[in-house]
Amino acid sequence: MKAFMTRRKSLLVAASTALALSLSACGGSTSTSNPPVAEKPSFAADTTMAKLSSAGKIVIGTKFDQPLFGQKGLDGKPVGFDVEMGKLIAGKLGIPADKIEWKETVSANREQFIKNGDVDIIVATYTINDKRKAEVSFAGPYYEAGQALMVNKDNTSITKPEDVKGKNVCSVTGSTPAATIVEKYGAILVPAATYSACLEPLRNKQVEAITTDNVILAGFVAKEPDAFKLASDQTFTKEPYGIGLKKDDTVFRNWINDQLEAFAKDGSYKKAWEDTAGTVIKTAPELPTIDRY
Ligand code: GLU
Repeated sequence: MKAFMTRRKSLLVAASTALALSLSACGGSTSTSNPPVAEKPSFAADTTMAKLSSAGKIVIGTKFDQPLFGQKGLDGKPVGFDVEMGKLIAGKLGIPADKIEWKETVSANREQFIKNGDVDIIVATYTINDKRKAEVSFAGPYYEAGQALMVNKDNTSITKPEDVKGKNVCSVTGSTPAATIVEKYGAILVPAATYSACLEPLRNKQVEAITTDNVILAGFVAKEPDAFKLASDQTFTKEPYGIGLKKDDTVFRNWINDQLEAFAKDGSYKKAWEDTAGTVIKTAPELPTIDRY
């Protein structure tokens, strides 16, 4: 996994209140895009691509409460960078956006949803790691995030992960940041099912920080810049995001990897970013080196 760990991007989170407010007012939370749909693409028989393409529909797991990556809009459809990635892949299978069934997946149920066949793929800020690879397979990475801490705006005592030792920190059950903050930094975990469920405990000081990936936290800060801030711009882990699929469906995994590289070449990866997370996080990513394990 070394190859895609080399590029570390600093985040330029929109700092001005006015900008952040205008973003939350018109920040794409209800807009939906319709990326190109391949006409009658052909696939080798018995592949997952052939099966999905001829069914004309796909079930995609994503987050429903994470601004910028996967958040359910007022029209009931999720929007965000993960959602755009899902739509682009569906399009290459000849499946239009309105034939995608979006299923909410939270951090703790992703492996099980894939194993049960509840979803065909998951695009949900889903870190690729060896423990998860024992249960599911991953295409990608298509983005690399890193763990960070979010605190109340008036907090001055927490600027690095070492500062949360022995303190209450909210994170999500089944996530990599929840494990790291306890095992490596000695925090007391206050677990929640989703990151948005951590916001009230932080606001009313039942916890001193929320921890997860920097880009997830940046989305919450952009929505409430007067309430919250990132403890620091530094991240303290690597969280390469993969697209989860059935374990050992190598043909499907390779095909998705090929599509990701094509999206980087034809500009659709960049556009997906600019339309979503890029409205807040100004440094546009480059597609990381694909991990063709
Ligand atoms: N990327 C981390 C993970 O997959 C944190 C974000 C999340 O929980 O979805 O565990």
